[in-house]
Amino acid sequence: MLFDYNRDHYKYREEFDEFPGIENFDFRFTKCTCGSTNSYVVSTTSRHRNVLPIVACDNCGTLRANPYFTEETAAYYYNNVYGKVKREGRTPEQLFDDQRRKSLAPFLDEFAGDFSTILDYGGGAGGKTAEFMSSGKKVSLHEVESNYSQYAYEQGITPYNEGTKYDLVVVSHVIEHLIDPVKHMTEIIRECCSKDGLLLVATPIVDRQRARQWLQHFHLAHKYYFTHDALIGLMAKLGCSLVKHNNNDSYLFKVGAGTDPELTSRSYAKGAQKTRLLVEAELKPSLKGLWRYLKNWRPLPHSQK
Ligand SMILES: [Zn+2]
Repeated sequence: MLFDYNRDHYKYREEFDEFPGIENFDFRFTKCTCGSTNSYVVSTTSRHRNVLPIVACDNCGTLRANPYFTEETAAYYYNNVYGKVKREGRTPEQLFDDQRRKSLAPFLDEFAGDFSTILDYGGGAGGKTAEFMSSGKKVSLHEVESNYSQYAYEQGITPYNEGTKYDLVVVSHVIEHLIDPVKHMTEIIRECCSKDGLLLVATPIVDRQRARQWLQHFHLAHKYYFTHDALIGLMAKLGCSLVKHNNNDSYLFKVGAGTDPELTSRSYAKGAQKTRLLVEAELKPSLKGLWRYLKNWRPLPHSQK
């Protein structure tokens, strides 16, 4: 295991209650997005040092919190806890400006001729896609937090219109929050994406870093942590083919390519191997590790009762 809740030498060890009253809510064990239940534990702590079991899937290498929120628990959490903790003190204007600095326009520049309508799905104040309006494109937003969406509408972004299909759908830093990404992404593709449209998925990619750095991502609000290959494999299963990625968190797909089971299983196998190698590299015996072991060694009682 990489990060053990019972050990006390992690960077993020300040006291911080991520979910007050958590004992009153239900959690559930789930399969991975690839359908597998086989996994190994990589962490039992979140970055806030709250108990949060994170496992790595044997089949595809995706990490997930398991057990995790039920739908009811998630609804409570997002309505009553998340905004207060994660976006505390951030006005819609500040969020918009922060997002605008991470505008997706440069990344999508070469495809600008391929879309004229955009849906920013779960896009907060819409700052990541607002820049497209200056080139005459129509930007719409699907966002449940009304103070953020209201600000976006004041900037000229239009509300999501149910039943409308969009040439480009942006799902940025949403998928890691979803309880069932397969179900949810299938719905987004079916309900919101134009035929042969573009779909941008952005999410933290864990295998761009050494495993020792993963703790910074482990947050109660995130259920899934994808690897590069597992994300491509999952999207191939949903009929989306990779067009471009930015070597960081953003992946542009074309929808309607048809599912590709062979690519999916090949990607899953690569993802699983990558995750396993990263974890093993971290757990390799070292002199430092030996010293820590000797320093912390205590005789254990013989009784196993
Ligand atoms: Zn998996």
